[in-house]
Amino acid sequence: MNGKESSVESAPASALVDPAKGQEWLQRYADSVLGVFGTPQRVLVRGAGCLVWDADGKQYLDLLGGIAVNALGHAHPFVTSVISSQLATLGHVSNFFTSPTQVALAEKLLALSGAPVESKVFFANSGTEAVEAAFKLARRNSAAAPDGKPRTRILALEGGFHGRTMGALALTAKQAYREPFEPLPGGVEHLPFDDLQALEAALDESVAAVVLEPIQGEAGVRPLSTGYLQRARELTRAAGALLILDEVQTGVGRTGRWFAHQSSGITPDAMTLAKGLGGGFPIGALVTFGPRASALLTAGQHGSTFGGNPVATAAALATLHALEAGAVLQNADDVGNFLRSSLTAVPGVDEVRGEGLLIGFDLDGDFAAEAVREALEQGFIINAPTPHTLRLAPPLILTRAEAQGFLDALPGILDTARTANARTHAAQSTEAPA
Ligand SMILES: *Cc1c(COP(=O)(O)O)cnc(C)c1O
Repeated sequence: MNGKESSVESAPASALVDPAKGQEWLQRYADSVLGVFGTPQRVLVRGAGCLVWDADGKQYLDLLGGIAVNALGHAHPFVTSVISSQLATLGHVSNFFTSPTQVALAEKLLALSGAPVESKVFFANSGTEAVEAAFKLARRNSAAAPDGKPRTRILALEGGFHGRTMGALALTAKQAYREPFEPLPGGVEHLPFDDLQALEAALDESVAAVVLEPIQGEAGVRPLSTGYLQRARELTRAAGALLILDEVQTGVGRTGRWFAHQSSGITPDAMTLAKGLGGGFPIGALVTFGPRASALLTAGQHGSTFGGNPVATAAALATLHALEAGAVLQNADDVGNFLRSSLTAVPGVDEVRGEGLLIGFDLDGDFAAEAVREALEQGFIINAPTPHTLRLAPPLILTRAEAQGFLDALPGILDTARTANARTHAAQSTEAPA
């Protein structure tokens, strides 16, 4: 049988589902999808550039980009066509085999990260998987202490987020994420954020690795100081510990550079990537820098069925190509600077942080959740990583005009949110038993 004779020769995914409105989908979601995410804010059906539409036809400016994922916006024509043609040629082969796109992507990532000779890439399917690989890399550094004692400790930071699988969760600091799943893999200690004295006191030859986000994303876009990153590099090198940078959120152009750590001039021993890498297609990667880090995980010590498959690696190659060809990192830098300087002038905004198009700003009260809801009502997708912090991680192709549209609406959004928050508190205090 050839494709032409098939009754399912060509059809959009929407042909596989019956049409329904948003509320009906949400009810069916609640009845069928595991409740770990709570109730979704909307049911989205379509996107183009920085815009998305929900099942009721309402349009939104997407200022979150699927949490720093949709670097080129939605339905980017070049990325879409590369993915479909790769899928129509060869979709999956397993790691008993390789493919040209896998090799080309590894080479491209090493070139963009300025990695020295004998650097390598391991491909995974998500951020947490890239971090798991990094965790195993750190464990393999255990036997390398000069006194023969194993390096059992791994240092991470308070506020750090590294994913939800067990190893990544052990590195993640947030108690609410950790406690229900203890015991977690041992040996991880969380140091106070950006505190050099604490790092100096903790780092000795019993440490296998230090794991840092150059900018903590989930904690509310908190940048580590350049001095901290540079000193962490010196101290880990001296102690024989690995410096592992988690750039799952900050990597691939998000900050206006290919990788956030490049602004500090350091070279890590390993770096994790995911979110923006596939332009919306799931893929993760661990880059190991130089011969020592690249020799720690040997044949048979790690693996993945899907990791590095032809479609995912083609998607990432296409994304990197389009970011380069369109001078998109420059745009991220320009529009990011414009947004940050404009945000500082908005009443109710206390502090603005971040680089490129990874932006966090603190409000002068705990009404960020209400602001997210009101923004959605007004057609903007944003996010509240903390009760008083809003985060923007839009497509890196966001235009100044699109950014301006949000800035124009923001004072009204914050006013309404503050009022809604005050009303909730007033209602709660009158409801409280005497
Ligand atoms: C999102 C994130 C992860 C986890 O990535 P997933 O793809 O959700 O598994 C890990 N580290 C950082 C810094 C992240 O922002």
